[in-house]
Amino acid sequence: MRQAIEKRIQELLVSSGPRLLWVTCQGVKKYPELAALIPARPEEARDCDSCRGTGRIEALPQIICRCGGVGWIVPGEAGPLGAIG
Ligand SMILES: [Zn+2]
Repeated sequence: MRQAIEKRIQELLVSSGPRLLWVTCQGVKKYPELAALIPARPEEARDCDSCRGTGRIEALPQIICRCGGVGWIVPGEAGPLGAIG
């Protein structure tokens, strides 16, 4: 049952775009159990250019990367800061 709910939430996070994914990634820092809700990397995703797939920007640790912290982006989707090429 729990797995079914988690799967449904993951689907919603993917379909709603990076903004909600971004929020979830930030929530994991405070509530580690939320990590179960972060969806697996889609096949069409590519490494985030800004953080090189790490999910964070070394020089600016206080800045949240445009990928939302997952380290990958889906081409064509709008990120928290606007469209991603
Ligand atoms: Zn990134």
